[in-house]
Order: sequence, then structure tokens, then C-alpha cells
Amino acid sequence: MLNLILFGPPGSGKGTQAAKLIEKYNLLHISTGDLFRAEIGNGTALGLEAKSYMNKGALVPDSVTVNMLKSKMEQHPEIQGVIFDGFPRTIPQAQALDEMLTSKGTSVTILLSLVVDDEEIIERIIKRGITSGRSDDTDPVIIQNRINTYKSQTTPVAEYYAQFGKTKVVKGVGSIDEIFENLCSEIDAVLV
Ligand code: AMP
Repeated sequence: MLNLILFGPPGSGKGTQAAKLIEKYNLLHISTGDLFRAEIGNGTALGLEAKSYMNKGALVPDSVTVNMLKSKMEQHPEIQGVIFDGFPRTIPQAQALDEMLTSKGTSVTILLSLVVDDEEIIERIIKRGITSGRSDDTDPVIIQNRINTYKSQTTPVAEYYAQFGKTKVVKGVGSIDEIFENLCSEIDAVLV
């Protein structure tokens, strides 16, 4: 199985690149942010709980997030591999993912970390907010909280996988196709 973590701050292009990568490598795309938004849209208890954190730009608790991810993976036992987009966002989530994959006889293949500076990120998120309808994409305070959360709680995940030589840094600025080519080169290098 090819298990890929698409990593990077909010607005770094993970969703855009994931959509292209799933086509090329025939992978299941799991975005925990999209899963939470679907739960909110369906008015579930899980959605209601997640919303209270998302509206502040904070992380949804690990146990809630990990259980949701597990049940999503159980719905697709036949898959060839996964792109994890927006997950794991904390060290406990990374450990839970490793355990889950180990129990399936597999592991994280590679973590691709998209690097984009803060100024560019804020500009992109605000632009996305005009069409996305996401309240967390329009309020400058929430956007800043999301960036701070990424720096304090999420960046250690890239360091955690770096210990195992699995973290690859990719420039997240340039054209969508250029960034895609750079991601593919890193993936193809671990596939040979
Ligand atoms: P995203 O669409 O990935 O930018 O996620 C939007 C929001 O959903 C985040 O700001 C968090 O509040 C929540 N969220 C998404 N993924 C996770 C995760 N892995 N752990 C905790 N919260 C998450």
C-alpha cells in the first residue's frame, strides 16, 4: 500500500494537490476537514462537537478525530492506498495512525510537507473564503489561530516522521502543475 501524508499549513494547497494525486496513483483521499464539514452538513452530534472547535481555529480532540478516521478506513477495506490530507495534526494522531496501519500490515510510506510562507497563506485563505463559504476562511482571527495551531501542534508531526527518514519537503509555491510534478518526483523515488 502507498500511504501518503499530505502535510502543510492551512491554505498550502493540500486539497488541490490531493485531487490530482488520487487520479495518478489510484488512492483513496481522506481529508479529516472534509469529513468534519460533511458531519456538520448532516447535522450529526459529531458535527456539532467538531464545529465548536473549528469555529475557533482550534483542533478537534484527538479521540474524536481518530475514531472518525478509523471508521472511514473500515468502510474501504479494498483500497490500494490512502492520501491523508489534514491528518495527522498532532503526535498522538500520528501514533494512532501508525498503530492502525501496523495492524493492517502496512505503514506510512512518505510525508510530503508543502512549504508556503505565512503572508502567502493568509492571502490564499482569504481568497478561498470568498467562494468556499467557510467561516474559518474569512475571519482573520480564526485564520491566525489556525496558523498558530499548525505551528505549535502540527509541525512536530513532520519532525516525528523525519526520524524515520519519511519526511520530504516540497516548495508549495509556483504553478499547480509545477508543485504537482515535484510531489510526484518524491513519490516516484520511494516507489522504485
Ligand atoms: P482543514 O479543512 O484541514 O483546514 O480543517 C478545518 C478544521 O477542521 C481545522 O481547523 C480543525 O478545526 C478541524 N480538523 C481537521 N482535521 C483535523 C485533525 N486531523 N485534527 C483535529 N482537527 C482537525
